[in-house]
Amino acid sequence: MAGQGVQLIPSPEEIMQILKRTGAFREGHFVYPNGKHTAHYFQMPLAFRYYDTARVLAVALSRKFRVERDVASQLPKVSIISPSSGGIPVAFGVRDALSAEQIFWAEQESGKRMFRQYINQGEINPCIIVDDIIRSGHAIEETVELVKSLGAPIIGCGAIVRFTSAPDNVDGVPIKSLVEFDEHFFDTAADCVECKAGAPEERVRF
Ligand SMILES: [Zn+2]
Repeated sequence: MAGQGVQLIPSPEEIMQILKRTGAFREGHFVYPNGKHTAHYFQMPLAFRYYDTARVLAVALSRKFRVERDVASQLPKVSIISPSSGGIPVAFGVRDALSAEQIFWAEQESGKRMFRQYINQGEINPCIIVDDIIRSGHAIEETVELVKSLGAPIIGCGAIVRFTSAPDNVDGVPIKSLVEFDEHFFDTAADCVECKAGAPEERVRF
């Protein structure tokens, strides 16, 4: 680990080592609820169950925002927003590292993404949206729409891991990540390399 005064960001390889060590990243043969097959599985809360690991990941992500002039100039009057429960530990960690003033998280209610808290127009600071992992980008995009509907500008967006198949920006704001992962999904068992190899499959959820 770098010393407190050294603003180093761990390399993607170092981040992947952390994810492997904590079980947040596994290799094998996995089948998702949508029927897709893949050789990798991310379950990010397993990395965030350890305080020290959660802190390393969140501080690293926060450094990618702090160097942005648009963010640095507006701190501490910034909101950190999580699109879902998985992003909440990331949001708290990034908020802490940046000393940002506000934190909000969205939830799915009746299929619609919304804030549970009572938020009125103008009460929300310029926003940084953070999540643990961006697979398709849908959660981030829905959260962008939600934040825009509240009249708040989005000044940053990021995740610990972003699949390279996901968007690399939202509304012109680049998505920052500690790892860019080139995930490959097989649409059917017939296409799947692991199935062809006869590897036992494990059914997983997102
Ligand atoms: Zn398969």
